[in-house]
Amino acid sequence: MIIGVPKEIKNNENRVALTPAGAKELTKRGHQVYVQATAGLGSGFSDEQYVEAGAKTLPTIEETYEIAEMIIKVKEPIEPEYKLIKKDQLVFTYFHFASHEPLTRAMMESGAVCLAYETVEKPDRSLPLLVPMSEVAGRMSIQEGAKYLEKPMGGRGILLGGVPGVRPAKVLILGGGVVGTNAAKMAAGLGADVTIMDVNLSRLRYLDDVMPANVNTFMSNEYNIRELIATHDLIVGAVLIPGAKAPHLITKDMLKEMTPGTVLVDVAVDQGGCIETCKPTTHQDPTYVIDDILHYCVANMPGAVPYTSTLALTNATLPYAIQLADKGWQKACTENRELLLGLNVVNGDIVYEGVAKAFGLPF
Ligand code: NAD
Repeated sequence: MIIGVPKEIKNNENRVALTPAGAKELTKRGHQVYVQATAGLGSGFSDEQYVEAGAKTLPTIEETYEIAEMIIKVKEPIEPEYKLIKKDQLVFTYFHFASHEPLTRAMMESGAVCLAYETVEKPDRSLPLLVPMSEVAGRMSIQEGAKYLEKPMGGRGILLGGVPGVRPAKVLILGGGVVGTNAAKMAAGLGADVTIMDVNLSRLRYLDDVMPANVNTFMSNEYNIRELIATHDLIVGAVLIPGAKAPHLITKDMLKEMTPGTVLVDVAVDQGGCIETCKPTTHQDPTYVIDDILHYCVANMPGAVPYTSTLALTNATLPYAIQLADKGWQKACTENRELLLGLNVVNGDIVYEGVAKAFGLPF
């Protein structure tokens, strides 16, 4: 199969959909891989590394789309890319169609086959191509939180791990899923006093079993949250209700109960945030202060660590990309239900119920 890897053109997107190692895996199976020049640079991969791995480079995005039977990318296509996508071309990337009607309609008009990373689903209902980014964001949430707790950054000036004779910082994590668990691991490793809250008692039991002694679990409800926020220095929002907006677990009035200089990192910002006062920010301008409480709400946290994020993402996507290249999308999706669930738009039709429902379109 002829595979094209365009350079990402969305603002500040430095990830790339295929590493030189991935290019090698595909070319050694007899596939032709075309990588747009400099596509890997933002993640630390040179054109020469791709060429050594058996790929060819193309100077422009137009040529990369033109030649390819399958396009592999990271972010959803943005407007200048719509016209480059061809009928019957397979496009394997994040799409997030349900929140973007113009993109959905453009892909229907293109006649392409759109296989979305975010809806590839394992039999246990986990989403294997979303997990790596949650792992990155969860781990980063503590790194960022620790930084913004420093006085010159606007925080209350407390060191996460404390020192002998001085108490460590108290970290509260709302939601004990992938983000929350990774955040807890990092915070615990730095010596903080950590509490994870979740509504799922089985999950709390599991976390209680596997987490170190400086991590406690607590049932999530308004009463308990109000009790804990007053004494915690760093609060991480990591809840998810699949297919819905995040619930506002911390309301604006609760900010007054917190110690000035408390840091809130709302990782759930991409689902609206679980803190009422959360509004999306960027890596250029990541924080703002309301009622003396510092908010960090970057919607694309993994974008700050493209080397790690690219490797984490491609570790998860490559096995699927290989199946699609080896078998073609029809056979690959027939034989692997995980991939079948990734199909969102096929030759002008929406084939994913959630997307059709979002726009009242036929399914
Ligand atoms: P997940 O499904 O693994 O975990 C979510 C957890 O929230 C579950 O354990 C669930 O039981 C719990 N939960 C639901 N309602 C709750 C409540 N009322 N109180 C406490 N816990 C509750 O999801 P995840 O992969 O950890 O993702 C969490 C959020 O992070 C999502 O909104 C995701 O989109 C977002 N995310 C953001 C970024 C970013 O860059 N900002 C990156 C990756 C993921």
